[in-house]
Amino acid sequence: MNKGYFGKYGGTFIPETLSHACEELDKLYAEIKDTDEFKSELNDIYVNYVGRPSPLYFAESLTEYYGGPKIWFKREDLNHTGAHKINNTVGQALLAKKLGKKRIIAETGAGQHGVATATICAKLNLDCVIYMGQTDIERQELNVFKIKTLGAEVIPVTSGTATLKDALNESIRDWVTNVEDTHYIIGSVTGPHPYPTIVRDFNAISGKELKHQALEQINKLPDMIVACVGGGSNAMGVFHPFIEDKDVALIGVEAGGNSSMDVGGASINDGSQGVLHGAKTKILQTNTGDILETNSISAGLDYPGVGPEHAHLADIKRAEYVKIYDQEALDAFYLVSRKEGIIPALETAHALAYLEKVKTLSTDVNIVVNMSGRGDKDLYSVMNNDK
Ligand SMILES: *Cc1c(COP(=O)(O)O)cnc(C)c1O
Repeated sequence: MNKGYFGKYGGTFIPETLSHACEELDKLYAEIKDTDEFKSELNDIYVNYVGRPSPLYFAESLTEYYGGPKIWFKREDLNHTGAHKINNTVGQALLAKKLGKKRIIAETGAGQHGVATATICAKLNLDCVIYMGQTDIERQELNVFKIKTLGAEVIPVTSGTATLKDALNESIRDWVTNVEDTHYIIGSVTGPHPYPTIVRDFNAISGKELKHQALEQINKLPDMIVACVGGGSNAMGVFHPFIEDKDVALIGVEAGGNSSMDVGGASINDGSQGVLHGAKTKILQTNTGDILETNSISAGLDYPGVGPEHAHLADIKRAEYVKIYDQEALDAFYLVSRKEGIIPALETAHALAYLEKVKTLSTDVNIVVNMSGRGDKDLYSVMNNDK
């Protein structure tokens, strides 16, 4: 059966005990996703709680500075909690309620997905447990306190490198044990079927809005959409409604890390086929199949895998995936802050840094950068990095 495959990637590589939960989720989602009731419930939260639609903003000063293509930002950074991640957590929390599950678990790296999950759990009165690597807990003190303030429990994970991939493993372990009353909110277009599809669909709100906004504000579709790719949820969300529009170039920007010598987080550029966290995809691994330790200045791009649909889009060349290094992202972080008065997340700064590579394109070209999140969370690490 080909369910949940994108070309040769995807699928469900999980313990037997979880198959039922994934099937149940798949079935419920298929049943309700197009109903007026679910759509209006979700829309109400998007509008009144998340603050959607997010604007399509013309970056006039940055456009002038480069003197080439017109540059636009899709402002996901203006969403409640400061990034695109809330688009998915609100949708999945609604699904959990419909499944009659009262307990939510999630993994988090930098803490952004943990915050977005704890936020909607507070609003919908769901118990919330967040798994986080001990190393990340120490690096992201403020987000840990935010999650606790929102009433969720943070469980430190000390196995492995005590980072995101270890937190993911612990979450899966918890889910196996408590699957009867627990829903696992995965934070990106990764994991077993149906997660890559569900997370994509909830994030596609940004791409759908962008399509309308572009036709109104630019009078045509954009020529190019640029988005950073960690697991790939903000990129897949903004790309997906444009996949059939072959004239729109889709550029996914992976993290190259601190130099061309080290392993960054570029699973498509530097990885090979393997199975990670329940799906077949491109992963960063040794010749013998051990997962490599990734590195990136941005915690959200520091992941050794990528959503299976991205691996497929790369194979069929519908999207192009490029690498941006830490220093290029830092330069873009300051440039956009100073030219536009918008401090971007370091993840987003990778997408923004790509503009340097296309700045000589003609002034008729319209480029949209998906502003996946705001940079408040990163100020501390940039401050320490740049000393
Ligand atoms: C988590 C995060 C990302 C990376 O996740 P994707 O699933 O690849 O979108 C990118 N930008 C921001 C601001 C994030 O918080």
